[in-house]
Amino acid sequence: MIVMKFGGTSVESAEAIERVSKIVTSRIKQSPLVVVSAMAKVTDQLVAMGNTAATGDCTEALSSVEALRERHTQTSKALLGEKRAAALAPKLHAHFVDLENFVRGLAAVRELTPRGSDYLLSFGELLSSLIVADAFAVRGLNAAWVDSRECLVTDTTHTRAVPQLADTREKSKKKIGPLLAKKRIPVMGGFIAASPDGIPTTLGRGGSDYSAAVMGAALDAQKIEIWTDVEGMMTTDPRLCPDARTINQISFNEAAELAYFGAKVLHPLTLLPAIHKNIPVYVLNSRNLKSTGTEITAQAPPSRDVFRAITAKKGVSIVNVVASRGVGVHGFLRSVFEAMDRHSASVDLVAISEVSMSFTIETKRLAQALVEDLEQIADVNVDNDQAVICLVGEDIHGKPGIAASVFNTVADSQVNIRMISQGASEINISFVVKEDDVPRVVRHLHDHFFSANSRAAAKSAKKKNGARANGSGVKRGSNGKSLVKRAIAAVV
Ligand code: ASP
Ligand code: MG
Repeated sequence: MIVMKFGGTSVESAEAIERVSKIVTSRIKQSPLVVVSAMAKVTDQLVAMGNTAATGDCTEALSSVEALRERHTQTSKALLGEKRAAALAPKLHAHFVDLENFVRGLAAVRELTPRGSDYLLSFGELLSSLIVADAFAVRGLNAAWVDSRECLVTDTTHTRAVPQLADTREKSKKKIGPLLAKKRIPVMGGFIAASPDGIPTTLGRGGSDYSAAVMGAALDAQKIEIWTDVEGMMTTDPRLCPDARTINQISFNEAAELAYFGAKVLHPLTLLPAIHKNIPVYVLNSRNLKSTGTEITAQAPPSRDVFRAITAKKGVSIVNVVASRGVGVHGFLRSVFEAMDRHSASVDLVAISEVSMSFTIETKRLAQALVEDLEQIADVNVDNDQAVICLVGEDIHGKPGIAASVFNTVADSQVNIRMISQGASEINISFVVKEDDVPRVVRHLHDHFFSANSRAAAKSAKKKNGARANGSGVKRGSNGKSLVKRAIAAVV
């Protein structure tokens, strides 16, 4: 079996869902399980609705419920025809009644808890998946709607719940296995799940990709397809740089690094279940039925360029922590890390010197309480509006002169670098600049490392230097795998 996930823009309208049904039809022999997001923007609207209701403005929130009802009803009529749409209407209606009641409750208590928020956001995927399943059925696909809350099991970390693979596997095999055996096409909402007690949870914004990967791992899928509105993963964000190209093949490690450092096309945790089960992941364009997009596998052939891609993660803060006089180095670092741990701070880059430490963290995740805690042991200052730029490529490891070439290029763009890190994974070079400088730096770097000229230069350098220029002085075998890696593989 395979998993096919369609994002919000791929199911945003009757026309889009029509295209999805054609794409699924083309894969029918591979036994697809279909995972869908909420229709585009619906989750944002639910979030806004919840906030409005929590201020006590029930009328405004209820009018947003009406707008959602209108959109879903119109889409289902356009896709299903009057008769079949009328048959689906009571199911949709039941959800809208629940939603209305919930909104009234929120307005009464004026508080939206994380648990309440998960319940509220679950409507987006419930509604879209019901419509998509029926749209498939009308088009001759033997579809079966599946309630994700009965398959995907998570812990109770509401708004960012962690999937429990063993339980998910057990429930999914029971629920979905028999459907697949009968050649049916299960259709379920991504992003939503439930705790072992059946309380609705969500996997965090953008989490439908992650759902697809978890389901793929739970059901031992042959591949996981993530259908979106762009032609795969790109060498950089095309909005920053119009010359950005699709990456045809990329390794799990590289893609995970890119997703983590800002490539919006994949939820950062998506690849973990795929890596765990070694399932190839494809990122494809749902506007193009013949899309070949990007293939993500354990090992990818070496890139033609020095790097595989450049990403920029905006909305980052640099936190500088300087030890107060008299605090020993050892004690200082321990205290800083303990404070981070207490506040579950997930930091990106860290630079440490004897009595000071700087780290970057997404601004929205920087808790004031953490800053206050750190202020007990050190002088702290925070710079907002920063961005982490990250160049990723497995072949840079040990290659002399790469870092110099990156930083010379940045210097040419007259941009000040605030922090530097070469990841311990040795597949990325990251640095921090002001958010406003991002477009200029990225364009410059992309021109330098990804233009046709740079490729020609890299090729001729390779010829001149033989194997040395091939990265880390490691000889490559004919299949592109490094001989060292193969030797290791042989020993293992
Ligand atoms: N609908 C959810 C969101 O907008 C999940 C997703 O689309 O992946 O965040
Ligand atoms: Mg997404």
